[in-house]
Amino acid sequence: MSDLPAKTLRTLRLAVRRRLLPWFAKNARELPWRMEPRNPYEVWISEIMLQQTRVETVIPYFRRFLARFPNAAALAAASPQDVLKLWEGLGYYSRARQIHKAAQILVRDHAGKLPNAPAQLAVLPGLGPYTTAAIASLAFGHPLAVLDGNVIRVLARLLALRDDAGRPATRRKLQRLADILLYQERAAATNEAWMELGALVCTPRNPRCTECPLHNICRAAKLKNPEAFPRKKKKMKVPHKVVGAAVILNARNRILIAQRNPEGGMLAGLWEFPGGKQAPGETMKACIARELKEEMGIEIEVGPHLVTVHHAYTHFTIELHAHFARIQSGRPRHLDCAGHAWVTADEFDHYPFSKADHGIIHALRALPKPPRHHDCFK
Ligand code: SF4
Repeated sequence: MSDLPAKTLRTLRLAVRRRLLPWFAKNARELPWRMEPRNPYEVWISEIMLQQTRVETVIPYFRRFLARFPNAAALAAASPQDVLKLWEGLGYYSRARQIHKAAQILVRDHAGKLPNAPAQLAVLPGLGPYTTAAIASLAFGHPLAVLDGNVIRVLARLLALRDDAGRPATRRKLQRLADILLYQERAAATNEAWMELGALVCTPRNPRCTECPLHNICRAAKLKNPEAFPRKKKKMKVPHKVVGAAVILNARNRILIAQRNPEGGMLAGLWEFPGGKQAPGETMKACIARELKEEMGIEIEVGPHLVTVHHAYTHFTIELHAHFARIQSGRPRHLDCAGHAWVTADEFDHYPFSKADHGIIHALRALPKPPRHHDCFK
């Protein structure tokens, strides 16, 4: 953005001080992590939770998390499963694992406190350039500009930027612009003001340009098509996966659940009804039987259908078909899972599950009476 005329940059910088910051002072939402003085631990947890997640969704999770883990020492001492349980439903579970690892590093190397220096923050697990800048500026006042989806949208509209906002080169340009526009003495307020404007006024759909403090200098508003910015290449079609899962009861009417491998991968460390992806040409029952053999080394008989759950993740959608099943031979082993447990319907609450698996739990709990081993095949 160094290619912008000096006059345009001056106008933008002036607008930040005279319009954007006063607007923010009047319109900032009261959020639980914005209590003054800022608590660096709370800023950190909120910034990680807010990645790819809406403020309204995060608030109750943040409150529960802080009540259970009020500081890095409490978080570091928790079991990974306790941390995942409190993250359950928030998605992007690697964030929970990394926050847990980072808390242990804070206790070991920093007396349980977030370090003030950006370079020390940047090496903590789960912190990228955005989160580092956000925590360094919001918690410690460092003059670092943040560039998240909201800021990209507002800046791209202000300039009616024609470049593809998905390209790293465009991001670098916008980061330089955000750096130039940062009012250094009030770095935290400037960063939050951009993000708040993007969240409340310059929204992806139907931006409220007439209420915007930057309306008179906005090129996209002048062109009367703000929604055309930021420009992005057309998205690829989201893949669809068809998956089968077994609800296996033992003779004591307990249900078999398995833990996904906790070291990386999608939904790592969460619990699930064992199963997997349907292969081309395979029937659903054959898919479930094959998956159980591969995952836990057991031969099963697959019985009646219980429920089909549809769920959309960011990069794909799934259709999860759950069937009752019973073991014909073998005992569960951990061939392609990290552990297993036999639980009652009440005990599901002790384990973290994905949203799709919660659909199966919901269907089980909605049955007129708890399923029993000898009659779920009728
Ligand atoms: S005038 Fe409209 S498009 Fe421009 S920054 Fe404000 S809300 Fe966004």
